[in-house]
Amino acid sequence: MKTVWETYDAETREKMEAFSKDYRTFLNRAKTEREFVRETIRLAEENGFQEIGRTKGPWKRGERLYAVNRGKNVVLYVIGERPIEEGINILGAHIDSPRMDVKQNPLYEKDGFALLDTHYYGGIKKYQWVARGMALHGVVVKKDGTAVDVVIGEEDDDPVIGVSDILVHLAAKQMQKKAAEAIEGEQLNLLAGSIPAKDEKKDAVRKYLLNLLKEKYGIEEEDFVSAELEAVPAEKARNFGIDNSMIMAYGQDDKICAYTNLRAILDVKTPARTSCVILVDKEEIGSVGATGMESRWFENTVIELLDGYGKADLVTLNRTLSNSRMLSSDVSAGLDPNYAEMFEPKNSAYLGRGICFNKYTGARGKSHANDANAEYLAKIRRVMDEEKIVFQTAEIGKVDEGGGGTIAFILARLNMDVVDAGIPVLNMHSPSEISSKADLYEGYRAYLAFLNRMD
Ligand code: MN
Ligand code: MN
Repeated sequence: MKTVWETYDAETREKMEAFSKDYRTFLNRAKTEREFVRETIRLAEENGFQEIGRTKGPWKRGERLYAVNRGKNVVLYVIGERPIEEGINILGAHIDSPRMDVKQNPLYEKDGFALLDTHYYGGIKKYQWVARGMALHGVVVKKDGTAVDVVIGEEDDDPVIGVSDILVHLAAKQMQKKAAEAIEGEQLNLLAGSIPAKDEKKDAVRKYLLNLLKEKYGIEEEDFVSAELEAVPAEKARNFGIDNSMIMAYGQDDKICAYTNLRAILDVKTPARTSCVILVDKEEIGSVGATGMESRWFENTVIELLDGYGKADLVTLNRTLSNSRMLSSDVSAGLDPNYAEMFEPKNSAYLGRGICFNKYTGARGKSHANDANAEYLAKIRRVMDEEKIVFQTAEIGKVDEGGGGTIAFILARLNMDVVDAGIPVLNMHSPSEISSKADLYEGYRAYLAFLNRMD
């Protein structure tokens, strides 16, 4: 099977390299869902998108619109030539990633250290998240409603924080434990300080840190209750491999698909069918919450669009959704040569072989799989071939090993055709995920082809 590399000429490789550089820069600015939304709005507005509500319909072909939900969930539309109720071409990805969230009552002092207690977010191998530099990103909302943005650990001179691990010399007992138990959830405590406040008898280190937070950010201990502080890896996105062919970065699940979705819709000009990109929060914890895919917010934005044409009724909404098509853009598990026995080689995703379509992703007997329609896959194949897009198909690991969920089934519930289509990564859900630059660029090309050509 051909790799993307063999199909690219020098000029395309240059474009790929430039695209991957933009991607790395974007990742470094957008490690959290809130930051991803902020950067998305910035790029969207630079590219002529206007917020729905500030602009009134009926909109003309090529008009560009967006809407934001609670700063953590964003949707973009480019109006098509045909009436919206004939269906929308939708790309969807999630912008949340595994991490450690600071608890609501986090701060304590022990043995001369101040620590922040965390509750990890999403599925992680906890042993991968200790003994490394973490940055703290998020927002503290004070009782009067003012929000204080916090980013500690991104500038070169910034301090980082992190969870300690026991030295190997004292780890005999730990090393006998199962990997799942070697680090317990309640051991994920971030070391945050060690200077005692002067003339304090009790909890002097804790008090010093509180004074510092007050001074620097104007926040009190009680303000942690209404804060969202996320500890994420402090490293920057890097080129990877001696041949410079890959990217190593935190949060590529699923920001690699979210970014390529976003770039695709920014480059859509005057589509036949209305184009849409929906970027959601909370996928890693089950797509719940008002900013997750299970929220009705997305449908609400479709109604708002229809309202711009005086057609905000349930019949038109249902017709629109039923006629729509979607690529659920979520990363696929790339075949890892160190663990090849977990994969079935004919039906695995390989780095460098292009965007990957997963007809189903469920575990053990396709449980909870979206299992897309053959007719829909045939249409997609045709578009991909006509646009000379390199693609592959895969499932997640061997039949009785793998499986995983995405947002596909939630949109399929609205009675539209949906299939998972994502970029393969190695090290998924670790602090340093690996992708191929070739798949990154080919993914963008595939998403753009879908928006422009899918009928
Ligand atoms: Mn994902
Ligand atoms: Mn994931």
